[in-house]
Amino acid sequence: MDKIAYINNRPYSFEEGETMLAFVRRQMTADLIPTLCDAPNLDPFGSCRVCSVEVALEKDGKRKTMASCHSPVIENCYIYPDSEAIQNLRKNIIELVLTDHPLDCLTCEVNGNCELQSVAASVGITEVRYPEGKNHLDREKDKSHPYMTSDLSKCINCYRCVRACDEVQGQFVLNMAGRGFDSHIIKGIDESFMESDCVSCGACSQACPTSAISDVFMSKSVRTSEKTRTVCTYCGVGCNLEVATSNGKILSIQAPYDAEVNQGHTCLKGRYAFKFYDHPERLRSPQIKRNGVFEDVTWDEAYDYIAGKLTDYKENFGSDSIAGISSSRCTNEENYLMQKFIRAVIGTNNIDGCARVCHSPTALGMQRTFGTGAATNSIDDLKDTNCIMIIGANPTDGHPVTGAKLKQFAMKTNNVCIVIDPRSTELAKYAHHHIPLRPGTNVAVLNMMMYYIIEAGLIDETFIETRTEGYNDFVNHIKQLDIDEMEKVCGVDREIIKAAAVAYASAPNAMSFHGLGVTEHSQGTFTVMQIADLALLTGNIGRRGVGVNPLRGQNNVQGSADMGVQPHQGAGYMDITKPVNQQKYEQFYGAKLPLHVGYKIPEMFDAALQGKLKAIWIIGEDVVQTDPNTQKVIKALEATDLVVVQELFMTETAKYADVILPGSSFLEKSGTFTNGERRVQRVNQVVEPIEGTKPDGQIIVDIMNRMGYKQADYTPDGMLEEISQIVPFFAGIKWEELGKNGKQWPVALDGTDTKILHTESFKRGLGKFEFNPFKESQEILDNGKDYPYILTTNRELEHYNCGAMTRRTGNVEILTEDSLMMNPLDAKNNAISDGDMVCIESPRGKVDIKARLTEDVRPGILSTTFHFPEIMVNNVTSDVHDTEAMCPEYKVVSVRIRKSKGKYKEA
Ligand code: SF4
Repeated sequence: MDKIAYINNRPYSFEEGETMLAFVRRQMTADLIPTLCDAPNLDPFGSCRVCSVEVALEKDGKRKTMASCHSPVIENCYIYPDSEAIQNLRKNIIELVLTDHPLDCLTCEVNGNCELQSVAASVGITEVRYPEGKNHLDREKDKSHPYMTSDLSKCINCYRCVRACDEVQGQFVLNMAGRGFDSHIIKGIDESFMESDCVSCGACSQACPTSAISDVFMSKSVRTSEKTRTVCTYCGVGCNLEVATSNGKILSIQAPYDAEVNQGHTCLKGRYAFKFYDHPERLRSPQIKRNGVFEDVTWDEAYDYIAGKLTDYKENFGSDSIAGISSSRCTNEENYLMQKFIRAVIGTNNIDGCARVCHSPTALGMQRTFGTGAATNSIDDLKDTNCIMIIGANPTDGHPVTGAKLKQFAMKTNNVCIVIDPRSTELAKYAHHHIPLRPGTNVAVLNMMMYYIIEAGLIDETFIETRTEGYNDFVNHIKQLDIDEMEKVCGVDREIIKAAAVAYASAPNAMSFHGLGVTEHSQGTFTVMQIADLALLTGNIGRRGVGVNPLRGQNNVQGSADMGVQPHQGAGYMDITKPVNQQKYEQFYGAKLPLHVGYKIPEMFDAALQGKLKAIWIIGEDVVQTDPNTQKVIKALEATDLVVVQELFMTETAKYADVILPGSSFLEKSGTFTNGERRVQRVNQVVEPIEGTKPDGQIIVDIMNRMGYKQADYTPDGMLEEISQIVPFFAGIKWEELGKNGKQWPVALDGTDTKILHTESFKRGLGKFEFNPFKESQEILDNGKDYPYILTTNRELEHYNCGAMTRRTGNVEILTEDSLMMNPLDAKNNAISDGDMVCIESPRGKVDIKARLTEDVRPGILSTTFHFPEIMVNNVTSDVHDTEAMCPEYKVVSVRIRKSKGKYKEA
């Protein structure tokens, strides 16, 4: 039976645990109780008391004044939210706040958008009866940071910024110092934003009810009614953004509180790194390279040139002489079109995408074990788990909004956090179990973990019996493991691994999260299968708070694979080598399709070098800067007759193009992105495409038509309708029904979506155990002796991948260059000091890079990023790749180092 409480003597039902504030706002109107220190994404705090209400335990009983924001509703209580006494109290509180606040509203940044101003008006302030306190106009404004600003004379000490920094981001940069009128917010040890550990997520700025903390875009004071909700273009978290525009220009970005993915939070990339979209260096015209020089041409000229060449190669060298690389930056609809163009118009399966160099082992490994190569659960399941295991991922840099949630989880008592990573990442510092293994030995560690789980009898026998196959054979192999040898191989004390294994298996619910530190290895697919095996072994699959959850890299890398941007599976993951699937695609596309697997990206480059590839079309991928063994990639592009690059900027790859086509950014087009939790979300066009550019989907449609294939113009709803007819798990997805928060596939015909996979059975029937032994990387076997250090590559928070976008925003002022993380012991042994230039040399080449000494990497291990073309770290990375999915082994590169003068930038 519903529980009842009374508002102004009228009965209403309330929800268990509901606060009086939430109850009154839900049952009456949102503005009946004003607040200052309350915010939608923060825990109740009860400091400003503006939300006070009168409460009696019986009708006409004695009333007590309580702060409604943090008082739970009591059954049968009587709440008076707007009695005369309460209205007087609120007015009095605001008057006191105003005595300490400069009354310069007319010239204030947030005039008209200030919560204090609104609350003051709502409680009827016309004058302040008290003498002036201190207005703090002497407080210096902080303009040190490219994004964050503060003017603490405007601070009302509500603590919202402090709590946002603590509770949302978990950074603990902001605090309150001083007493009484001198109380004031400080950053770090009373320093500027730029000097502090601020990660520029903007949570404090969005939370601040005045202009005390703001940003350079003045996001809170933007005066426009033009606001468009869309999805971030950077990582696979898929944060929702609310973009404010005026006269076709983007003014600022805020995070919607009702976004299921990010609940009012973003990282600095999503919120602030948008100015690339109209950067002067945007490509604004198609170009053809003639005599080594790019010349602007019309779209028709470019299309004719490309169509003519492609038709010629197709006729004279066959369809397999042409290949395409699609972009995970693009929408699902554009990726679908690109693979359709390559398959149905060109007639080859030579289509691949950036998943090849990141999560292709995840898709393959999870398909082999479960039948479906996607995250089993949602990030929201963190509310229902007891243990998180993070393997080969640094989410606070790579997936910041999810990273912040994982950090919040790890910091809470009773929660267990396991980190398996060679580096002492931020999460490793909060972890209860950190396994700092030697790069390349994930398989050894995970097999050891399973050994100890089986030894301790912590397996879920019922689950294994009813939901899996292959266990007996698997367990026999595990029991025969040479633990002494494996301990030596991974370089971690067996007791540390055992404790982590027992913690994972003993938790009522355990979730795993993995990243590229799992997949970018020669045993990447096998490692993914082991993570899946761990879940099977302990029954951690098929319900809330468990599962295997890859942290997907690019914003739409999940979607591009879903749409068929793979050489072995078409749209919807159907095996293109099966005649029944071939027939289905042929009928649907109305074209003849090949029955053999196409080239994966590394095979495209090999084919080019062998003279077999005549043309390659690359959308939004800077393969020269980001793919391994740069010099080989360059040679492959030089050996290809026609290189078409569809891009936003003149990237390192675009420089090798024969034709450049200027595409559009996510802000200039509509479609859908699918985030790492299989959530298909609407990307809504915010501004018109920059003059001279076109949405990438329309470019592909144009060329399809030019080559004689009838394809309707690019519209997100039209394309989505076509996709829903061929991709089974998109069957019930309709553009107009996606709503604000999207739907998680599979989506049934009636529109019902799926939060958790494998609840009753696996797509392949039973979950499959498969033992795979540890094998040393060929890179170490071949080169480890002469090149004794292991270089591993990673990401930094401020930049994304090749940095083409983030380097054209204020982020570049925060992180200006790639650097090499090196243990002080290694530095000492090589006479290297912090900030020295170091020459890293591998069998492929050399690069010079600045040393950053840190204990976060162990002796013998080096770590760096490849965001900056000035360094081109991939000159040294190797051709070794995952044996199954051909994902390059970026994480294990044999190198040697020496102090240098900064001479070598290329091989
Ligand atoms: Fe964008 Fe990822 Fe940052 Fe969210 S966490 S704002 S999706 S980069």
